[in-house]
Amino acid sequence: MKNKLREWLGLEKYTPFEKKYFERALFKAVIYMAVIVIVLECYVIYSVTMNVLTSGKPRTMEWIISHYASYVILLICGIVMLSFASRYVRGKAKNIKAGYGILITFCTVCIVFGIYISDMDYAKGEQILTFLTMEIFVFCLLVWRPLVSFGLLTLTFLVFMFLMNRSIPLTFATELNMMTFWISTFMVSISAYRQRMEDARNNENLQEAYENLEKTAIVDHLTGLSNHAHFIVGCHEILRADPEHASDYTILFLNLVEFKAYNEKYGYDEGDYLLIKSAERLKEAFPGDLIARGSDDHFLILTKRTDAREILLSLDEELGTKHPETHLGLSAGAYRPDRPDCNIAQACDHARYACSSLKKQLRQRFALYDEKMELEVRRRQYIINHVNEAIEQGYVRPFYQPVMFAEDQTLCGAEALARWIDPEFGFLSPGAFIPVLEEYDLIHLVDLCILKTVCRDLRRFMDEGKPAVPVSINFSRRDFANADIPAELERYTAEYRIPKEYLHVEITESALTDDDKLLKETVDKLQQAGYQIWLDDFGSGYSALNVLKDYHFNVMKLDMVFLRNFEGNERAKALIRSIVDMARVMQMGTLTEGVETKEQAEFLRDAGCIRLQGFYFGKPMPLEEIQEKISAGEYTVSPRALDND
Ligand code: C2E
Ligand code: MG
Ligand code: MG
Repeated sequence: MKNKLREWLGLEKYTPFEKKYFERALFKAVIYMAVIVIVLECYVIYSVTMNVLTSGKPRTMEWIISHYASYVILLICGIVMLSFASRYVRGKAKNIKAGYGILITFCTVCIVFGIYISDMDYAKGEQILTFLTMEIFVFCLLVWRPLVSFGLLTLTFLVFMFLMNRSIPLTFATELNMMTFWISTFMVSISAYRQRMEDARNNENLQEAYENLEKTAIVDHLTGLSNHAHFIVGCHEILRADPEHASDYTILFLNLVEFKAYNEKYGYDEGDYLLIKSAERLKEAFPGDLIARGSDDHFLILTKRTDAREILLSLDEELGTKHPETHLGLSAGAYRPDRPDCNIAQACDHARYACSSLKKQLRQRFALYDEKMELEVRRRQYIINHVNEAIEQGYVRPFYQPVMFAEDQTLCGAEALARWIDPEFGFLSPGAFIPVLEEYDLIHLVDLCILKTVCRDLRRFMDEGKPAVPVSINFSRRDFANADIPAELERYTAEYRIPKEYLHVEITESALTDDDKLLKETVDKLQQAGYQIWLDDFGSGYSALNVLKDYHFNVMKLDMVFLRNFEGNERAKALIRSIVDMARVMQMGTLTEGVETKEQAEFLRDAGCIRLQGFYFGKPMPLEEIQEKISAGEYTVSPRALDND
C-alpha cells in the first residue's frame, strides 16, 4: 500500500538503469526543445529589429533592453542547453549536475518569460498564450515526477493568476479556464511520466534478459570461466591482434585425470567443487591468459608462456599430492597455431587429440601435437569421410580365417574379418579403422557390408556345388543400437537363401555389460531365430565370468592371451583346461584363437577344446585363396561342420 502510494506520487527510488533512462530521454527531448526555442527567439529578435528599422523611430537604451533582454536570454539559454544536451547524448558530457543546473535555469527562464510576457499582454487585454505555451513546453517535455509537477504547476499558476488579478480582476470563466488548463497540463505531465517509467522498466527487463543471455552464451556457469564457444572467439581476437607473434602462442587442452573416479567416490557436489578450485588454480598459474572450461573436466588455455609444460607438470604433482587416494592428476595436450587466421576449433581438437594420446602412456602427462599425430588424425578423418565410398566400391570386404576341429584338424568353419584395401591409403587393418568407426557410430555400415558379402560368397560356393562351411561374423556393440541386426540377418539370409546354421554371430566380450537390456533382448531374439551366438575374446580383460550367467552362448572363443607365454607354463595350461571344462559344464562349445604352433594345437585338443583358429592353420585370406586350398586338398572340409557343439 505504502509502495503503491509512493509509486502513485512518483516518489519511488530510481534504479540506476531508470535514472539513466530518464536522463537520456530528458536530454534528447531538450535537444528538440532547445532548437525550437532558438529558432523562435531568432525569429522574434529578427522581427523586432525589422520593426525598429522600418519604423525609423529612435529607441532608448531602456526600450532596447526591455524589448530584447528576455529574447536574448532565452536564446542564450537555448544555445547553452542545446550544446550540453547534444554532447550528453553523444556520451561526451559527463558532468550531469552542471547539465541539471543549466536545465533548471532554462526552465525557470522559460516560465518567468511566459509569466512576464503574458502578464503584460493580459494587462493590455490580449491573450495569455505565451504563458500557456511555456507551461506545456516545460511540463510535457521535461517530464517531472508527479509531485514536482504538481508543486511547480500550482505555484506558477497561482503566481500568474495573482499577477493577472492585479491588472484586471479575474472573472469566474477565466478562473475556470485556468483551472481546466492547470489540471490538463498536470494530467498530461503525469501520463508522460508514467509512460516513460513503464518504458524504462521494460527496457531494463529486456536489457537484463539480454545480458543474461549473453552471459550464458559465453560463460561457463560452474567455474565462471569462458565457455568453449567464447574461447574460440577470444583466440581469434587475440591472434588477429598480434599476427606477427601468432606462432608464439600455444593452445592447451587439459584433462583432469581420474576425475570420474573422484566424482564417483565423493559425489557430484565435491566434483563440482574440485572443478571450481581447479579453475581458480589455473587462473593463478596462467595470469592474464585466456582460460576456458571446455566440457566436463576439460579446460582450454591460450598462452604465450614458454614454461607452460613445467607449470602444468607441477599442477599435476600438486593434485596428486593433495588427492593420493583417487590418483587425481592433470594431463595436457598442446597445439601451436601456425597462422593468425588458423581454424581455432580445429586447433582445439588437435590439442585434445594430443591430450587423449596420453591415455595410452600412463606416465606421460604432456604431449605436443606433432606430425605423427597429424598423419594419424588425417587417417582417421579419411576413414570417416570415405567409409561409404569404400563400401560402395568394394574396397571393404571380408577375408576368411579357417577354423578347424581340434580332433582331426578338418575345416569346420571360417571367421569373416574385415579388410579395407584402399587405392590411396593401401591396406588398412581392422585395428586401424574399426575403433574409429566405432567411435563415430559408423561401424554398422561395415558390419552390414561384411554380412551381405559373406551371404553372397556362401551362395556362390553353394551354387558352384562346393562344400560350404559356416562363417562367423563379428558384430560390435553399437551395431545393435544403430541397426536392426536380427532384421538385417533375416533380409540377407532370405535374399541369398542361406540356411541360418551357416551364419554365426560373434559378439566380443567387451561389448557385454550387465545392464544392456537391448543387447540381451537382441541376443535372445537371434538365438530364437536359429543363429548361433559366439562369445568372442573371452578372457581378454573384462567381467567375463559375470557375463556367462546373464547370456547364453553356443560357443566360447578363448582369447589368444591364454596362449601367450604358453610354452612350459603349467599354470597357463591348467587355466585353459579348467576354462574348457567350465564351458563344457555350461553346455558351451569352445574355440581357442591365436593357435600358432603344433604343440599348442595338440595341447588344446588334449584339453578338450573343440575348435581351433590361428596362423598355424592359416591367416585370414581372400575367398579365392581358401577355395584354392580346399581344392588343393590342403584343407579338408569336415562332414560335421554344421554340428552344434
Ligand atoms: P577377433 O574377432 O578376435 O579376430 C581375430 C583376430 O586375431 C584377427 O585380427 C586375426 O587376424 C588375428 N589372429 C588370428 N589368428 C592369429 C594368430 O595365430 N596369431 C595372431 N597374432 N593373431 C591371430 P584382425 O583381423 O586384425 O581383427 C582384429 C579384430 O578386429 C577382430 O578380433 C575383431 O574384434 C575386429 N574385427 C575384424 N573384422 C571385423 C568386422 O567385420 N566387424 C567388427 N565389428 N569387428 C571386426
Ligand atoms: Mg572375432
Ligand atoms: Mg577374438
